[in-house]
Amino acid sequence: MHPSRPEKVRFAPSPTGFFHVGSARTILYNWLVARQTHGSLLLRIDDTDTERNREEWVDGIYRAIQWLSLDWDEGPIRQSSRIEHYQSVAFDLLKSGHAYWCDCTRDAVEARKAPGTPPGYDGFCRDRGLEQGPGRALRFRVPDAEVIVSDLIRGEVTFPRGSIEDFIILKSSLAPLYVLANVIDDIDFAITTVLRAEEHLPTTPKAVLIHQALGAPIPQFGHLPVLVNEQRRKLSKRRDRVAVEDYRQLGYLPEPMINYLALLGWNPGDDREFFTLAELVQAFSLDRVGHSPAFFDEQRLLHFNKSYLASLPMASFATVARPFVAALITMHPDGEERFARIAPEVQTRIGTLSELPKMIGFLFTFAPDYVELVGKLRADDLSYLTQASATLLDLKDFTAGEIETCLRACADSLGTNLRKLQAPIRLAVTGAPVGPPLFSSMAILGQNECVARINALAQTAANSHP
Ligand code: GLU
Repeated sequence: MHPSRPEKVRFAPSPTGFFHVGSARTILYNWLVARQTHGSLLLRIDDTDTERNREEWVDGIYRAIQWLSLDWDEGPIRQSSRIEHYQSVAFDLLKSGHAYWCDCTRDAVEARKAPGTPPGYDGFCRDRGLEQGPGRALRFRVPDAEVIVSDLIRGEVTFPRGSIEDFIILKSSLAPLYVLANVIDDIDFAITTVLRAEEHLPTTPKAVLIHQALGAPIPQFGHLPVLVNEQRRKLSKRRDRVAVEDYRQLGYLPEPMINYLALLGWNPGDDREFFTLAELVQAFSLDRVGHSPAFFDEQRLLHFNKSYLASLPMASFATVARPFVAALITMHPDGEERFARIAPEVQTRIGTLSELPKMIGFLFTFAPDYVELVGKLRADDLSYLTQASATLLDLKDFTAGEIETCLRACADSLGTNLRKLQAPIRLAVTGAPVGPPLFSSMAILGQNECVARINALAQTAANSHP
C-alpha cells in the first residue's frame, strides 16, 4: 500500500445469515485502513444469491456495524439493483472475445474426460461460435498462462497455467455470477484495496483476469487469515458461537470486541493488549497482519470484556448494565436505589453483563428453593444462623462495616471463624453460595429483610431436622 495514498476500500457482506465475527473483523480492518489513509469505505451488499439472501440479514448487517460503532462513507450499494449492468458488461466481454456461449451439461463434460484429467471445464465450446440460446451459459475465456495475484498479506500467489477453468460469468438464466458482479463493482466504485476473508483467495485469479479483460487497474488484494476454534478448525456456525448478535446479547461490549478482533491476525509488534478504536487507527498496519490462522479464543475475549467493564467510570457501567437488569429493577420499589448501590460492588466481578441478573437478582426478588438451600447447610449452620440473626437484630447502624464487626464478634463467641459463619448467612440472604460482597449486599437489603431471610432458612432447617 502507498502510505500516503487515500485508500478506497469496501466491505461486501452477503446477507445469508447472522453477522459473523469474521465479518466484523473484515469491516474493522477495512475501516481502519480507510480512516488511517483518509480514504473511504464503501458498504456493498452482495445480494445476488436470491435463494439464500434474506432482508432481515441485511438489517442485521446495518445493526451490527452500528453496534460495533463503525460506519461507512458510501453506499449501501445493493448488487441486486445492478443485475442489468452486470449483464451488459458480460456482453461487452463476449463482444471483445473474452467470453463465449457454452451449452455443455456437467454430465457431458464428465463423460468426455479421460481418467486422470484435471477437474473443471475442458473448453469444449471455446471455438464453436455458439449464439446465445436456451440452456447456454456465458463462459470467460481464460488465457493460457499463469496468473499471479499480488497479495498484501501473502505476497505473490501464483496460480499455474491450466489451473483455472473457463468459468461461467452468466448462467443460462442470464443471472450474473458472483465473481463477475464483484469485479464490476470494484471497478465502478474505484476500489483501490480489497481486504477480505481468505476463502476468497481461490477466486481472486478470476477477478484479476476479468479486470485485465476489461482494461481496468487491478486493486491491491489482501486476504485476511481464517478464524479457527480451539481445535484449529475453521469457525463454523454449527459448532461455534460466531454471531456478533449472540455476543451482544451475552453482554459483551463493542469496545472490547473491536479491541479483540483487531488482534486476530494483526500483531502490534509488542505485548500491548488494550487499544481504543482511535488508538487502533494510529497503530494498525497491514504489514503486521499475518497469514496463519487466528484462534478466536472466547476466553481471551472474555478477558478483554471483563477488563473493559472494570475500567468504566461508574456511571457508564450503570448505563451499559441497565438493559440487562431493567426488568429486575422494576420488581422492587427500591429497585433503582438498590441497583445504584450494588453496581460498584459487582463491576469488577463480572465477565459479561448477562451474568448480572443471576448475581444481583436477590436484591429485587427473592423466592429461593428452601429445601435445596437446607440441603447445602452443614452441621453447625443452624446454630450459626440463629445466633447471627439475634445479634444482627441488635445492630444500630446496619452498614457493611458494622455488619462485619458484628459477625466477627459473633463468630468468636461461637468458636468459629468469619468464613464459616458467613457461608450459611450468604445462602440465607442471597440464595446462593457465591455472589457479590456479602456485607455490602446485606446493608443494601436492610436489617429487616436480612433478619427475615436468615430466620426463614433457619426455620426451614429446624423443621426439616426436628
Ligand atoms: N460477499 C462476500 C462475503 O460475504 C465477500 C466478497 C468480497 O469481499 O469480495 O463473503
